[in-house]
Amino acid sequence: MMAGETTVVESPALDHLRKLVTCRSVTPDDDGALGHVADCLSRLGFAVTRKTFSDRDTPDVDNLFATIGSGAPHLVFAGHTDVVPPGATEAWSRPPFAAEIVDGELIGRGAVDMKGGIACFLAAAERFLKAGPPAGTLSVLITGDEEGPAINGTSKMLLWAIDTGHRFGAALIGEPTSESRLGDAIKIGRRGSISAVIEARGTQGHAAYPHLADNPLPRLIKALAALDALELDAGTDAFQPSNLEITSVDTGNTAVNVIPASARANINIRFNDRWDVPALKARIEAVVAAAGAAGEAMTVSWIEPASQVFHTSDEGLLGPLADAIEARTGAVPARTTAGGTSDGRFFKDYCPVAEFGLVGATMHRIDERVPVADLDALTDIYADFLARYFGGRP
Ligand SMILES: [Zn+2]
Repeated sequence: MMAGETTVVESPALDHLRKLVTCRSVTPDDDGALGHVADCLSRLGFAVTRKTFSDRDTPDVDNLFATIGSGAPHLVFAGHTDVVPPGATEAWSRPPFAAEIVDGELIGRGAVDMKGGIACFLAAAERFLKAGPPAGTLSVLITGDEEGPAINGTSKMLLWAIDTGHRFGAALIGEPTSESRLGDAIKIGRRGSISAVIEARGTQGHAAYPHLADNPLPRLIKALAALDALELDAGTDAFQPSNLEITSVDTGNTAVNVIPASARANINIRFNDRWDVPALKARIEAVVAAAGAAGEAMTVSWIEPASQVFHTSDEGLLGPLADAIEARTGAVPARTTAGGTSDGRFFKDYCPVAEFGLVGATMHRIDERVPVADLDALTDIYADFLARYFGGRP
């Protein structure tokens, strides 16, 4: 094939993905994406419920829950149809919502994060259910609010599902977890995340008369240097070391000859299972306090809620998933807890949760794209996983 040649390659997952990518579902818009998922699942015999949640400070969000079968085991596949904005559209080699295929890859916003994972699951579910309903319950929970505030999405859908009487045995989230090659990594947990604003206060004054002012910046810088030098831990069996990043420093001061009255910095900490939130807060507050002399005003304000650290070792979920991946790719996937937060943080309160999907290298980037061959391979893996999870049905 010539470089840049546009070809048409057919596969069931690709058909779904093309329809999904052409919906401009930048959070909180849906533009028909959930409707496509609902139509497919209804056709396969799922009972589909659409729920819209609102909150006075955040936009309304559409969500979907679908279920087929009854009793245990109860597996829920989860994901999101919303996408991040395309950014500079003119920088894309193809329009971000056109779903064009170039050199065997579909280019478009959401191709890997994560309309691709949903498309593969729809194709896999169709193949799996050809032999009849599952020996248990298979549910699907799709939100339109993962990339946004995540207030009117998965957390509220789960509360609704539990209220309605659903009890989940395991959750698989189709986020792009593969690192360099499809199937090289499963996410078995995530680090926690917490942020804070550190504010140093002083007395505003003229830069030529520092004895009449009290500059808060030197002690804020001292506190930040101490935080930056802090080694929180060396990692644990399941997790990489915790890390603290200074993400902003600001005085709001536009004048060069004025000593500012206050200065603020933002920090974000990704923490592992060596820590709980109260212990971590106490450690940071102690470091900040030690950086300032007695009587110097410096405060740490925590941005709530923190995301808790979690991980699963449930072999009823991880075993069939790893086996299905190995059967298709010939390699055993790594079990990792690296990376940022996802809606897994909401599922962990109800059941073991793992994440597995496409290679995430281009997610959130210009020219986000997925090889069609990977869509077909992931479809095979999801279908085989469903068969293994529900009892080895071929
Ligand atoms: Zn995602």
